[in-house]
Amino acid sequence: MSVIEAHRLLIGGEQVAARSGGEFETTDPSTGQVIARLARGTAADVDDAVGAARAALPIWRATKPADRGRALLAIAARLLEEQDELARIEVIDTGKPLRVAKGDVVVAARYFEYYAGAADKLFGTTIPLGDEFLDYTVREPLGVSAQVIPWNYPLQMGARGLAPALAAGCTTVVKPAEEASLSLLRVAQIIGESGLPAGVVNVVTGIGEEAGAALVSHPGVDQITFTGSVEVGQSIMRAAAANVVPVTLELGGKCPTLVFDDADLDAAAATLTAAAIQHAGQTCSAVSRLVTTAPVHDELVARVRRIMDDARVGPGFDDPDLGPVITAEQLARVSGYVDGAAAGGIEVACGGTVAEEAERYGGYFFRPTLLDHVPPDATVAREEIFGPVLSVFDADSEDEAIALANRSDYGLVCGVWTRDVARAHRVAAAIEAGQVFINGYGAGGGVELPFGGYKKSGIGREKGIEGLNSYLHTKNVCLRL
Ligand code: NAP
Ligand code: MG
Repeated sequence: MSVIEAHRLLIGGEQVAARSGGEFETTDPSTGQVIARLARGTAADVDDAVGAARAALPIWRATKPADRGRALLAIAARLLEEQDELARIEVIDTGKPLRVAKGDVVVAARYFEYYAGAADKLFGTTIPLGDEFLDYTVREPLGVSAQVIPWNYPLQMGARGLAPALAAGCTTVVKPAEEASLSLLRVAQIIGESGLPAGVVNVVTGIGEEAGAALVSHPGVDQITFTGSVEVGQSIMRAAAANVVPVTLELGGKCPTLVFDDADLDAAAATLTAAAIQHAGQTCSAVSRLVTTAPVHDELVARVRRIMDDARVGPGFDDPDLGPVITAEQLARVSGYVDGAAAGGIEVACGGTVAEEAERYGGYFFRPTLLDHVPPDATVAREEIFGPVLSVFDADSEDEAIALANRSDYGLVCGVWTRDVARAHRVAAAIEAGQVFINGYGAGGGVELPFGGYKKSGIGREKGIEGLNSYLHTKNVCLRL
Protein backbone atom coordinates (compact mmCIF):
# COMPACT_ATOMS: atom_id res chain seq x y z
CA MET A 1 0.00 0.00 0.00
CA SER A 2 1.89 3.05 -1.18
CA VAL A 3 -0.90 5.57 -0.58
CA ILE A 4 -2.07 5.87 3.01
CA GLU A 5 -5.73 4.93 3.01
CA ALA A 6 -8.28 6.50 5.33
CA HIS A 7 -10.96 4.34 6.89
CA ARG A 8 -14.20 5.29 8.59
CA LEU A 9 -16.54 3.80 11.15
CA LEU A 10 -19.36 1.53 9.98
CA ILE A 11 -22.59 2.43 11.73
CA GLY A 12 -26.09 1.51 10.59
CA GLY A 13 -24.78 0.50 7.17
CA GLU A 14 -23.08 3.87 6.58
CA GLN A 15 -19.40 4.69 6.56
CA VAL A 16 -18.98 7.73 8.77
CA ALA A 17 -16.18 9.78 10.26
CA ALA A 18 -15.82 9.90 14.03
CA ARG A 19 -18.06 12.63 15.49
CA SER A 20 -14.98 14.24 17.03
CA GLY A 21 -13.22 14.18 13.66
CA GLY A 22 -10.36 12.33 15.37
CA GLU A 23 -8.13 9.84 13.61
CA PHE A 24 -5.27 7.50 14.47
CA GLU A 25 -2.65 5.67 12.43
CA THR A 26 -1.79 2.02 12.02
CA THR A 27 1.53 0.60 10.90
CA ASP A 28 2.94 -2.42 9.08
CA PRO A 29 5.01 -4.32 11.67
CA SER A 30 7.24 -5.72 8.91
CA THR A 31 8.46 -2.23 7.97
CA GLY A 32 7.38 0.12 10.73
CA GLN A 33 5.70 2.28 8.05
CA VAL A 34 2.31 3.92 8.53
CA ILE A 35 -0.20 2.17 6.25
CA ALA A 36 -3.55 3.70 7.09
CA ARG A 37 -5.47 6.33 8.99
CA LEU A 38 -8.54 5.25 10.88
CA ALA A 39 -11.43 7.04 12.52
CA ARG A 40 -10.90 7.40 16.26
CA GLY A 41 -14.34 6.57 17.61
CA THR A 42 -15.32 7.78 21.07
CA ALA A 43 -18.33 7.46 23.38
CA ALA A 44 -20.57 9.47 21.02
CA ASP A 45 -19.87 7.10 18.13
CA VAL A 46 -20.33 4.07 20.36
CA ASP A 47 -23.71 5.49 21.34
CA ASP A 48 -24.66 5.78 17.66
CA ALA A 49 -23.47 2.24 16.95
CA VAL A 50 -25.32 0.69 19.89
CA GLY A 51 -28.40 2.65 18.80
CA ALA A 52 -28.07 1.22 15.28
CA ALA A 53 -27.64 -2.30 16.65
CA ARG A 54 -30.71 -1.89 18.91
CA ALA A 55 -32.77 -0.55 15.99
CA ALA A 56 -31.78 -3.56 13.84
CA LEU A 57 -32.51 -6.10 16.56
CA PRO A 58 -36.29 -6.55 15.99
CA ILE A 59 -35.69 -7.07 12.25
CA TRP A 60 -32.85 -9.54 12.64
CA ARG A 61 -34.34 -11.61 15.45
CA ALA A 62 -37.60 -11.85 13.46
CA THR A 63 -35.73 -13.07 10.37
CA LYS A 64 -36.56 -16.75 9.87
CA PRO A 65 -33.79 -18.98 11.26
CA ALA A 66 -33.34 -20.67 7.88
CA ASP A 67 -32.89 -17.26 6.26
CA ARG A 68 -30.38 -16.22 8.90
CA GLY A 69 -28.47 -19.41 8.13
CA ARG A 70 -28.59 -18.71 4.40
CA ALA A 71 -27.27 -15.18 4.99
CA LEU A 72 -24.35 -16.58 6.98
CA LEU A 73 -23.54 -19.03 4.17
CA ALA A 74 -23.50 -16.13 1.72
CA ILE A 75 -21.01 -14.31 3.96
CA ALA A 76 -18.78 -17.41 4.10
CA ALA A 77 -18.79 -17.66 0.31
CA ARG A 78 -17.87 -13.98 -0.07
CA LEU A 79 -15.02 -14.31 2.42
CA LEU A 80 -13.58 -17.20 0.43
CA GLU A 81 -13.97 -15.25 -2.83
CA GLU A 82 -12.03 -12.39 -1.26
CA GLN A 83 -9.42 -14.62 0.36
CA ASP A 84 -6.45 -13.03 -1.40
CA GLU A 85 -7.49 -9.47 -0.64
CA LEU A 86 -8.38 -10.19 3.00
CA ALA A 87 -5.11 -12.06 3.50
CA ARG A 88 -3.19 -9.17 1.94
CA ILE A 89 -4.81 -6.75 4.40
CA GLU A 90 -4.09 -9.06 7.35
CA VAL A 91 -0.42 -9.48 6.34
CA ILE A 92 0.23 -5.76 6.03
CA ASP A 93 -1.62 -4.95 9.26
CA THR A 94 -0.31 -7.74 11.51
CA GLY A 95 2.95 -8.84 9.83
CA LYS A 96 1.99 -12.51 9.85
CA PRO A 97 3.16 -14.87 7.07
CA LEU A 98 0.95 -14.85 3.98
CA ARG A 99 -0.06 -18.51 4.15
CA VAL A 100 -1.09 -18.06 7.80
CA ALA A 101 -3.26 -15.08 6.82
CA LYS A 102 -4.80 -17.11 3.99
CA GLY A 103 -5.55 -19.85 6.48
CA ASP A 104 -7.17 -17.28 8.78
CA VAL A 105 -9.61 -16.35 5.99
CA VAL A 106 -10.57 -20.00 5.52
CA VAL A 107 -11.14 -20.40 9.26
CA ALA A 108 -13.20 -17.20 9.34
CA ALA A 109 -15.37 -18.55 6.53
CA ARG A 110 -15.68 -21.87 8.37
CA TYR A 111 -17.17 -20.07 11.41
CA PHE A 112 -19.91 -18.62 9.22
CA GLU A 113 -20.53 -21.99 7.53
CA TYR A 114 -20.61 -23.85 10.84
CA TYR A 115 -23.01 -21.47 12.61
CA ALA A 116 -25.12 -21.09 9.44
CA GLY A 117 -25.98 -24.74 9.91
CA ALA A 118 -26.90 -24.15 13.55
CA ALA A 119 -29.21 -21.15 13.01
CA ASP A 120 -32.29 -23.33 12.44
CA LYS A 121 -31.42 -25.93 15.09
CA LEU A 122 -31.62 -23.86 18.24
CA PHE A 123 -34.23 -26.14 19.81
CA GLY A 124 -35.84 -25.83 23.18
CA THR A 125 -37.07 -28.83 25.14
CA THR A 126 -40.35 -30.01 26.63
CA ILE A 127 -40.22 -30.81 30.31
CA PRO A 128 -42.65 -33.41 31.68
CA LEU A 129 -44.59 -32.22 34.74
CA GLY A 130 -47.58 -34.56 34.53
CA ASP A 131 -51.00 -34.13 32.92
CA GLU A 132 -51.76 -30.75 34.43
CA PHE A 133 -49.00 -28.83 32.69
CA LEU A 134 -47.38 -28.23 29.37
CA ASP A 135 -43.86 -26.93 29.91
CA TYR A 136 -41.34 -25.99 27.23
CA THR A 137 -38.23 -23.91 26.77
CA VAL A 138 -37.33 -21.55 23.92
CA ARG A 139 -33.93 -20.09 23.04
CA GLU A 140 -33.99 -16.35 22.45
CA PRO A 141 -31.20 -14.00 21.34
CA LEU A 142 -29.62 -12.06 24.19
CA GLY A 143 -29.81 -8.83 22.19
CA VAL A 144 -26.95 -6.48 21.32
CA SER A 145 -23.54 -8.14 21.57
CA ALA A 146 -20.43 -5.99 22.11
CA GLN A 147 -17.32 -7.64 20.71
CA VAL A 148 -13.82 -6.41 21.57
CA ILE A 149 -11.13 -8.03 19.43
CA PRO A 150 -7.31 -8.33 19.77
CA TRP A 151 -4.77 -7.58 17.05
CA ASN A 152 -3.18 -11.01 16.66
CA TYR A 153 -5.98 -12.84 14.80
CA PRO A 154 -8.58 -10.21 13.87
CA LEU A 155 -10.18 -12.29 11.11
CA GLN A 156 -10.43 -15.48 13.15
CA MET A 157 -11.43 -13.85 16.44
CA GLY A 158 -13.88 -11.52 14.72
CA ALA A 159 -15.63 -14.36 12.92
CA ARG A 160 -15.52 -16.56 16.03
CA GLY A 161 -17.70 -14.03 17.85
CA LEU A 162 -19.78 -12.62 15.01
CA ALA A 163 -20.96 -15.87 13.40
CA PRO A 164 -22.61 -17.44 16.49
CA ALA A 165 -24.02 -14.07 17.59
CA LEU A 166 -25.66 -13.56 14.20
CA ALA A 167 -26.89 -17.17 14.02
CA ALA A 168 -28.54 -16.70 17.42
CA GLY A 169 -30.32 -13.54 16.22
CA CYS A 170 -28.19 -10.99 18.07
CA THR A 171 -26.98 -7.74 16.54
CA THR A 172 -23.45 -6.51 17.17
CA VAL A 173 -21.01 -3.67 17.70
CA VAL A 174 -17.37 -4.59 17.11
CA LYS A 175 -14.34 -2.73 18.50
CA PRO A 176 -11.28 -4.06 16.67
CA ALA A 177 -7.77 -3.62 18.04
CA GLU A 178 -6.00 -0.35 17.45
CA GLU A 179 -3.02 -2.09 15.83
CA ALA A 180 -5.05 -4.17 13.38
CA SER A 181 -8.55 -3.00 12.48
CA LEU A 182 -8.43 -3.12 8.69
CA SER A 183 -9.51 -6.69 7.97
CA LEU A 184 -12.58 -6.47 10.24
CA LEU A 185 -13.67 -3.24 8.56
CA ARG A 186 -13.55 -5.11 5.26
CA VAL A 187 -15.41 -8.11 6.72
CA ALA A 188 -18.16 -5.82 8.00
CA GLN A 189 -18.48 -4.29 4.54
CA ILE A 190 -18.70 -7.76 3.02
CA ILE A 191 -21.39 -8.66 5.54
CA GLY A 192 -23.35 -5.55 4.54
CA GLU A 193 -22.95 -6.41 0.85
CA SER A 194 -24.20 -9.94 1.58
CA GLY A 195 -27.67 -8.50 2.28
CA LEU A 196 -27.85 -8.40 6.07
CA PRO A 197 -30.03 -5.54 7.31
CA ALA A 198 -28.14 -2.31 8.05
CA GLY A 199 -27.13 -2.06 11.71
CA VAL A 200 -26.83 -5.80 12.36
CA VAL A 201 -23.02 -5.45 12.34
CA ASN A 202 -21.44 -2.11 13.29
CA VAL A 203 -17.74 -1.37 13.68
CA VAL A 204 -16.27 1.38 15.85
CA THR A 205 -12.51 1.66 15.46
CA GLY A 206 -10.55 3.51 18.09
CA ILE A 207 -8.57 3.32 21.29
CA GLY A 208 -9.34 0.69 23.93
CA GLU A 209 -9.66 3.12 26.84
CA GLU A 210 -11.99 5.33 24.76
CA ALA A 211 -14.12 3.38 22.29
CA GLY A 212 -13.63 0.00 23.98
CA ALA A 213 -14.40 1.22 27.49
CA ALA A 214 -17.43 3.19 26.25
CA LEU A 215 -18.76 0.13 24.44
CA VAL A 216 -18.45 -2.38 27.29
CA SER A 217 -20.06 0.03 29.78
CA HIS A 218 -22.90 1.14 27.47
CA PRO A 219 -26.32 0.40 29.01
CA GLY A 220 -27.70 -0.61 25.60
CA VAL A 221 -25.35 -3.61 25.41
CA ASP A 222 -26.79 -6.99 26.49
CA GLN A 223 -23.72 -9.22 26.23
CA ILE A 224 -19.94 -8.81 25.90
CA THR A 225 -17.44 -11.03 24.11
CA PHE A 226 -13.84 -10.08 24.78
CA THR A 227 -10.57 -11.60 23.66
CA GLY A 228 -7.38 -10.06 24.96
CA SER A 229 -5.27 -9.59 28.04
CA VAL A 230 -6.15 -10.52 31.62
CA GLU A 231 -5.94 -6.91 32.86
CA VAL A 232 -8.35 -5.56 30.28
CA GLY A 233 -10.58 -8.61 30.77
CA GLN A 234 -10.82 -7.77 34.45
CA SER A 235 -11.78 -4.17 33.70
CA ILE A 236 -14.42 -5.40 31.25
CA MET A 237 -15.86 -7.73 33.86
CA ARG A 238 -16.18 -4.77 36.23
CA ALA A 239 -17.96 -2.74 33.53
CA ALA A 240 -20.26 -5.69 32.84
CA ALA A 241 -21.05 -5.99 36.53
CA ALA A 242 -22.39 -2.42 36.59
CA ASN A 243 -24.99 -3.34 33.95
CA VAL A 244 -25.34 -7.01 35.02
CA VAL A 245 -24.60 -8.40 31.56
CA PRO A 246 -22.89 -11.71 30.79
CA VAL A 247 -19.30 -11.78 29.53
CA THR A 248 -17.31 -14.31 27.60
CA LEU A 249 -13.62 -13.74 28.28
CA GLU A 250 -10.88 -15.39 26.22
CA LEU A 251 -7.70 -14.23 27.90
CA GLY A 252 -4.05 -15.13 27.87
CA GLY A 253 -2.21 -18.42 27.94
CA LYS A 254 1.09 -19.95 28.99
CA CYS A 255 0.45 -23.22 27.23
CA PRO A 256 2.53 -26.27 28.16
CA THR A 257 3.43 -29.28 26.06
CA LEU A 258 4.52 -32.47 27.85
CA VAL A 259 6.81 -34.83 25.97
CA PHE A 260 7.25 -38.24 27.59
CA ASP A 261 10.11 -40.64 26.90
CA ASP A 262 8.00 -42.92 24.66
CA ALA A 263 7.00 -40.07 22.34
CA ASP A 264 7.65 -39.69 18.61
CA LEU A 265 10.32 -37.02 19.07
CA ASP A 266 10.47 -35.90 15.45
CA ALA A 267 6.74 -35.29 15.29
CA ALA A 268 6.68 -33.69 18.74
CA ALA A 269 9.58 -31.34 17.98
CA ALA A 270 8.15 -30.25 14.61
CA THR A 271 4.65 -29.67 15.94
CA LEU A 272 5.49 -27.94 19.19
CA THR A 273 8.11 -25.68 17.61
CA ALA A 274 5.68 -24.62 14.89
CA ALA A 275 3.15 -23.80 17.60
CA ALA A 276 5.78 -21.85 19.55
CA ILE A 277 6.82 -19.60 16.67
CA GLN A 278 3.50 -19.29 14.81
CA HIS A 279 2.79 -15.58 14.30
CA ALA A 280 6.08 -14.96 16.15
CA GLY A 281 4.62 -16.49 19.32
CA GLN A 282 1.80 -13.94 19.47
CA THR A 283 -0.88 -16.55 19.87
CA CYS A 284 -2.86 -17.22 23.04
CA SER A 285 -2.44 -20.95 22.44
CA ALA A 286 1.25 -20.72 21.50
CA VAL A 287 3.36 -23.46 23.08
CA SER A 288 5.51 -21.45 25.48
CA ARG A 289 6.41 -24.14 28.04
CA LEU A 290 7.98 -27.49 27.15
CA VAL A 291 8.07 -30.07 29.93
CA THR A 292 10.27 -33.10 29.36
CA THR A 293 12.06 -35.83 31.27
CA ALA A 294 15.77 -36.65 31.36
CA PRO A 295 15.82 -39.66 28.98
CA VAL A 296 14.61 -37.54 26.04
CA HIS A 297 15.58 -34.04 27.08
CA ASP A 298 18.80 -33.69 25.08
CA GLU A 299 17.49 -35.31 21.91
CA LEU A 300 14.32 -33.27 21.97
CA VAL A 301 16.05 -29.97 22.70
CA ALA A 302 18.53 -30.65 19.87
CA ARG A 303 15.65 -31.17 17.44
CA VAL A 304 13.80 -28.05 18.56
CA ARG A 305 17.00 -26.02 18.34
CA ARG A 306 17.65 -27.19 14.80
CA ILE A 307 14.16 -26.18 13.69
CA MET A 308 14.46 -22.81 15.41
CA ASP A 309 17.91 -22.13 13.97
CA ASP A 310 16.64 -22.98 10.47
CA ALA A 311 13.45 -20.91 10.78
CA ARG A 312 13.15 -18.16 8.20
CA VAL A 313 12.41 -14.75 9.71
CA GLY A 314 11.09 -12.00 7.43
CA PRO A 315 8.30 -9.77 6.21
CA GLY A 316 4.86 -11.41 6.01
CA PHE A 317 4.64 -11.16 2.21
CA ASP A 318 7.84 -13.26 1.86
CA ASP A 319 5.90 -16.03 3.61
CA PRO A 320 8.61 -16.82 6.17
CA ASP A 321 8.28 -19.21 9.12
CA LEU A 322 7.75 -16.20 11.34
CA GLY A 323 7.21 -12.52 10.78
CA PRO A 324 7.69 -9.60 13.18
CA VAL A 325 6.08 -8.94 16.54
CA ILE A 326 3.40 -6.29 16.43
CA THR A 327 5.15 -3.11 17.65
CA ALA A 328 8.51 -1.69 18.68
CA GLU A 329 7.27 -1.77 22.30
CA GLN A 330 6.45 -5.46 22.01
CA LEU A 331 9.92 -6.12 20.56
CA ALA A 332 11.48 -4.33 23.53
CA ARG A 333 9.25 -6.31 25.90
CA VAL A 334 10.27 -9.67 24.40
CA SER A 335 13.96 -8.67 24.47
CA GLY A 336 13.56 -7.57 28.08
CA TYR A 337 12.16 -10.94 29.13
CA VAL A 338 14.98 -12.86 27.43
CA ASP A 339 17.71 -10.52 28.70
CA GLY A 340 16.29 -10.82 32.21
CA ALA A 341 16.31 -14.61 31.99
CA ALA A 342 19.92 -14.65 30.74
CA ALA A 343 20.99 -12.22 33.46
CA GLY A 344 19.38 -14.56 35.98
CA GLY A 345 21.54 -17.45 34.77
CA ILE A 346 19.04 -19.20 32.49
CA GLU A 347 20.64 -20.95 29.52
CA VAL A 348 19.76 -19.40 26.14
CA ALA A 349 20.03 -22.47 23.91
CA CYS A 350 19.34 -20.56 20.69
CA GLY A 351 18.19 -17.16 19.46
CA GLY A 352 17.83 -14.67 22.25
CA THR A 353 18.28 -11.46 20.27
CA VAL A 354 16.57 -9.10 17.88
CA ALA A 355 16.90 -10.57 14.38
CA GLU A 356 19.12 -8.91 11.77
CA GLU A 357 15.98 -8.53 9.61
CA ALA A 358 14.88 -5.76 11.98
CA GLU A 359 17.57 -3.49 10.59
CA ARG A 360 17.18 -4.70 7.03
CA TYR A 361 13.41 -4.11 6.80
CA GLY A 362 12.71 -1.66 9.61
CA GLY A 363 10.31 -4.09 11.29
CA TYR A 364 10.13 -5.74 14.70
CA PHE A 365 11.81 -9.13 14.22
CA PHE A 366 13.01 -11.36 17.05
CA ARG A 367 14.84 -14.66 16.61
CA PRO A 368 13.17 -17.89 17.71
CA THR A 369 14.48 -18.44 21.20
CA LEU A 370 14.89 -21.51 23.37
CA LEU A 371 15.53 -21.21 27.11
CA ASP A 372 16.69 -24.45 28.72
CA HIS A 373 16.44 -25.86 32.26
CA VAL A 374 14.19 -22.99 33.30
CA PRO A 375 13.33 -22.82 37.03
CA PRO A 376 9.53 -23.05 37.45
CA ASP A 377 9.37 -19.80 39.39
CA ALA A 378 11.33 -17.70 36.88
CA THR A 379 9.51 -14.70 35.40
CA VAL A 380 9.73 -16.23 31.91
CA ALA A 381 8.13 -19.38 33.30
CA ARG A 382 5.11 -17.56 34.67
CA GLU A 383 4.31 -14.57 32.46
CA GLU A 384 2.91 -14.52 28.95
CA ILE A 385 5.73 -13.14 26.78
CA PHE A 386 3.89 -13.03 23.43
CA GLY A 387 7.05 -13.54 21.41
CA PRO A 388 8.84 -16.54 19.82
CA VAL A 389 10.27 -17.74 23.14
CA LEU A 390 10.00 -21.32 24.41
CA SER A 391 11.07 -22.35 27.93
CA VAL A 392 12.09 -25.93 28.72
CA PHE A 393 11.40 -27.47 32.16
CA ASP A 394 12.85 -30.66 33.62
CA ALA A 395 10.54 -33.24 35.20
CA ASP A 396 11.56 -36.47 36.93
CA SER A 397 8.26 -38.26 36.58
CA GLU A 398 4.80 -38.15 35.04
CA ASP A 399 3.42 -36.64 38.24
CA GLU A 400 6.03 -33.93 38.26
CA ALA A 401 5.39 -33.18 34.58
CA ILE A 402 1.69 -32.73 35.33
CA ALA A 403 2.44 -30.57 38.36
CA LEU A 404 4.75 -28.34 36.29
CA ALA A 405 2.14 -28.02 33.54
CA ASN A 406 -0.52 -27.00 36.05
CA ARG A 407 1.81 -24.62 37.87
CA SER A 408 0.44 -21.56 36.08
CA ASP A 409 -2.21 -18.89 36.50
CA TYR A 410 -3.34 -19.80 33.00
CA GLY A 411 -5.11 -22.89 31.66
CA LEU A 412 -5.92 -22.60 27.98
CA VAL A 413 -4.42 -25.41 25.87
CA CYS A 414 -2.03 -28.29 26.64
CA GLY A 415 -0.14 -30.71 24.39
CA VAL A 416 0.77 -34.26 25.43
CA TRP A 417 3.12 -36.58 23.52
CA THR A 418 3.20 -40.29 24.41
CA ARG A 419 2.53 -43.62 22.69
CA ASP A 420 0.95 -45.00 25.88
CA VAL A 421 -2.82 -44.61 25.50
CA ALA A 422 -3.55 -45.06 29.20
CA ARG A 423 -0.99 -42.43 30.13
CA ALA A 424 -2.40 -40.06 27.50
CA HIS A 425 -5.87 -40.15 29.06
CA ARG A 426 -4.54 -40.11 32.63
CA VAL A 427 -2.55 -36.97 31.90
CA ALA A 428 -5.43 -35.33 29.97
CA ALA A 429 -7.69 -35.89 32.98
CA ALA A 430 -5.19 -34.28 35.35
CA ILE A 431 -4.46 -31.20 33.23
CA GLU A 432 -6.14 -27.89 34.10
CA ALA A 433 -6.82 -26.51 30.62
CA GLY A 434 -9.79 -26.01 28.33
CA GLN A 435 -8.27 -28.12 25.54
CA VAL A 436 -5.80 -31.00 25.54
CA PHE A 437 -4.21 -32.27 22.32
CA ILE A 438 -2.54 -35.68 22.34
CA ASN A 439 0.16 -36.41 19.74
CA GLY A 440 -0.71 -33.27 17.82
CA TYR A 441 -1.58 -29.66 18.45
CA GLY A 442 -4.63 -27.96 16.98
CA ALA A 443 -7.13 -29.50 14.60
CA GLY A 444 -7.55 -27.30 11.53
CA GLY A 445 -9.07 -24.09 12.77
CA GLY A 446 -10.74 -25.96 15.62
CA VAL A 447 -14.03 -24.28 14.74
CA GLU A 448 -16.02 -27.30 15.95
CA LEU A 449 -14.19 -27.72 19.26
CA PRO A 450 -15.28 -25.91 22.43
CA PHE A 451 -12.51 -23.53 23.41
CA GLY A 452 -11.88 -21.48 26.53
CA GLY A 453 -9.89 -21.11 29.67
CA TYR A 454 -9.47 -22.60 33.08
CA LYS A 455 -8.18 -20.21 35.73
CA LYS A 456 -7.12 -16.75 34.43
CA SER A 457 -7.37 -17.85 30.80
CA GLY A 458 -11.00 -16.88 30.79
CA ILE A 459 -14.68 -17.48 31.36
CA GLY A 460 -17.10 -19.26 29.07
CA ARG A 461 -16.59 -21.24 25.90
CA GLU A 462 -16.42 -20.15 22.30
CA LYS A 463 -16.41 -22.31 19.15
CA GLY A 464 -18.47 -25.44 18.61
CA ILE A 465 -22.14 -25.72 19.54
CA GLU A 466 -21.28 -24.59 23.08
CA GLY A 467 -20.25 -21.22 21.66
CA LEU A 468 -23.89 -20.43 20.88
CA ASN A 469 -24.82 -20.45 24.57
CA SER A 470 -23.08 -17.09 25.02
CA TYR A 471 -25.66 -15.47 22.76
CA LEU A 472 -28.90 -17.14 23.91
CA HIS A 473 -31.34 -16.86 26.75
CA THR A 474 -33.33 -19.91 27.76
CA LYS A 475 -36.93 -19.00 28.49
CA ASN A 476 -39.16 -21.50 30.26
CA VAL A 477 -42.88 -21.37 29.46
CA CYS A 478 -45.25 -23.27 31.73
CA LEU A 479 -48.96 -23.64 30.95
CA ARG A 480 -51.43 -25.07 33.47
CA LEU A 481 -53.83 -27.09 31.38
P1 NAP B 1 -5.53 -6.16 24.97
O1 NAP B 1 -4.54 -5.10 25.15
O2 NAP B 1 -6.27 -6.67 26.15
O3 NAP B 1 -6.55 -5.59 23.88
C1 NAP B 1 -7.62 -6.35 23.39
C2 NAP B 1 -8.72 -5.41 22.93
O4 NAP B 1 -9.24 -4.70 24.06
C3 NAP B 1 -8.25 -4.34 21.95
O5 NAP B 1 -9.27 -4.10 21.03
C4 NAP B 1 -8.05 -3.14 22.88
O6 NAP B 1 -8.07 -1.91 22.23
C5 NAP B 1 -9.23 -3.31 23.80
N1 NAP B 1 -9.12 -2.57 25.06
C6 NAP B 1 -8.01 -2.10 25.68
N2 NAP B 1 -8.33 -1.46 26.82
C7 NAP B 1 -9.68 -1.53 26.93
C8 NAP B 1 -10.61 -1.08 27.89
N3 NAP B 1 -10.22 -0.42 28.99
N4 NAP B 1 -11.93 -1.33 27.71
C9 NAP B 1 -12.34 -2.01 26.62
N5 NAP B 1 -11.51 -2.46 25.66
C10 NAP B 1 -10.19 -2.22 25.81
O7 NAP B 1 -4.90 -7.43 24.29
P2 NAP B 1 -3.94 -7.47 23.02
O8 NAP B 1 -2.61 -7.02 23.41
O9 NAP B 1 -4.59 -6.81 21.86
O10 NAP B 1 -3.96 -9.04 22.69
C11 NAP B 1 -3.07 -9.91 23.30
C12 NAP B 1 -3.74 -10.68 24.41
O11 NAP B 1 -4.90 -11.34 23.94
C13 NAP B 1 -2.85 -11.78 24.94
O12 NAP B 1 -2.93 -11.84 26.34
C14 NAP B 1 -3.45 -13.04 24.32
O13 NAP B 1 -3.18 -14.22 25.02
C15 NAP B 1 -4.89 -12.71 24.32
N6 NAP B 1 -5.61 -13.54 23.35
C16 NAP B 1 -6.42 -14.53 23.81
C17 NAP B 1 -7.10 -15.34 22.91
C18 NAP B 1 -8.01 -16.44 23.38
O14 NAP B 1 -8.80 -16.90 22.60
N7 NAP B 1 -7.94 -16.87 24.64
C19 NAP B 1 -6.92 -15.14 21.55
C20 NAP B 1 -6.08 -14.13 21.12
C21 NAP B 1 -5.43 -13.33 22.04
P3 NAP B 1 -6.65 -1.26 21.76
O15 NAP B 1 -6.18 -2.08 20.66
O16 NAP B 1 -6.99 0.11 21.34
O17 NAP B 1 -5.75 -1.28 22.95
MG1 MG C 1 -1.18 -2.52 12.00
